[in-house]
Amino acid sequence: MLNIQPGNQSAQNFHRILTLVHGGPKWPRKSTRKTAHYVVTTNGNQRLADLCARELERIYRGYANAFKFKGDEQKRKFNVRVFATKEGFMQYSAQTTGKALGFALGYYASSYKELVLWHNPNEDQLVNTLYHEGFHQFLDYFISNAPTWFNEGLAQYFETAEWKGRQAVLGKPDRNKLGYLQRTLQMNRSVPLKKLLRLSHQQFMDQRPGALAGSTMANVHYVESWSFIHFLIDYNKGQYRKVIRKFYLALKAGKNPDQAFEEVFGKASFLRIEKVWKGYVSAL
Ligand SMILES: [Zn+2]
Repeated sequence: MLNIQPGNQSAQNFHRILTLVHGGPKWPRKSTRKTAHYVVTTNGNQRLADLCARELERIYRGYANAFKFKGDEQKRKFNVRVFATKEGFMQYSAQTTGKALGFALGYYASSYKELVLWHNPNEDQLVNTLYHEGFHQFLDYFISNAPTWFNEGLAQYFETAEWKGRQAVLGKPDRNKLGYLQRTLQMNRSVPLKKLLRLSHQQFMDQRPGALAGSTMANVHYVESWSFIHFLIDYNKGQYRKVIRKFYLALKAGKNPDQAFEEVFGKASFLRIEKVWKGYVSAL
């Protein structure tokens, strides 16, 4: 919790940021689309607002299915802000998060509960960004501080969703990611799952060199998390799929990641799971 005291400079600064987030940037024109779970606002045109809201609403069913939600468990709509230009996005992210995020296609700010992105003219990529960042927003509503492997693994899993009517087709392997992981495994440079699953957010984002030239340990962590989620959901017709929901429920019940981990995976079975996962990834 933040204790704001009068006369405190950083508190004033924080107040200014909250006013900006709450009131939104000063846009000369604004388009809005409200749906069952989302409010999308943009200084782009109505088509852009509609596109983002429609894509988020359809992937929402995929998120909810993954955790087998029965009813509509979400009580408040998610805020999504879409900038027409990258410049506007960078300026806003600098003002509200302290980082200009010039490399980013979008982000989810957990402090302000908002998903922010810019109108990437490559709209397939824009949609993939929505699916990925939208998952972070979704999960944060139900669980704060979910383990990073779980959060990033699932976000990447949803990122590449394709559609057969209303049905999401998930888990299409990304050949670049997969090739990188397979080479990392061949070089014996992978991070043991037991370690990966216990990394803090900061440790996960480790910028030291990874297995291959030009890559970082964070790249290894991302790709392993993605593949482990993929394995849990898809291996052997979903043999381990229930682990995802069990882990989620344990976290939601207030267990810390270590307790949730023990509860879901047990002690003895884990090395065996790691071996099966490696075999699965190598053969994908
Ligand atoms: Zn992410």
